[in-house]
Amino acid sequence: MKLNRNLKEVRRCTKCIMPETVPGITFNKDGVCNFCTGFQELKYLGKDKLDEIIETQRKKAIDYECIVPMSGGRDSTYALYLARNVYKLKSRAINYDNEFRTEQALNNIKRACEATNTEFLTVRSKQDISTKIARSQLREELSMGFVKRPNICRGCSYGIKSIPFIGSLSNTKCL
Ligand SMILES: [Zn+2]
Repeated sequence: MKLNRNLKEVRRCTKCIMPETVPGITFNKDGVCNFCTGFQELKYLGKDKLDEIIETQRKKAIDYECIVPMSGGRDSTYALYLARNVYKLKSRAINYDNEFRTEQALNNIKRACEATNTEFLTVRSKQDISTKIARSQLREELSMGFVKRPNICRGCSYGIKSIPFIGSLSNTKCL
């Protein structure tokens, strides 16, 4: 593929217009890219269903009624606000320190936890596993010329998905 082709010559997804220059992109017979065909739309269940889930889980709770995974961004901060101030759930905030977390993110989490009077736990691998996985992925992708979809976040995604389970254990020490 020549990189200096005229933009009109670049093949694009007929649905989302992503160009053929995106690493790992493929097109089906209708010209729709693999990112569009692989997309699974989330089904919004509504507030009534959320209320029902919360009431059901509240009855089952032993130590915490809610675990809130926190990144320090707006979405998780709002989730903590909803859990503590709107639904009045006994909550524990948890953060996976993926070794790339900024001081600002940590400060945001601490301030949100103070403001909502919430226990906070942060977890980090003792062996810097996220950094090692990211370095390994980057090396592999560089050696292949970025021909496949980059996935240097694989280590982080494992941590983000598993840490809330650790945080639900009552004997886990909080910071
Ligand atoms: Zn597409």
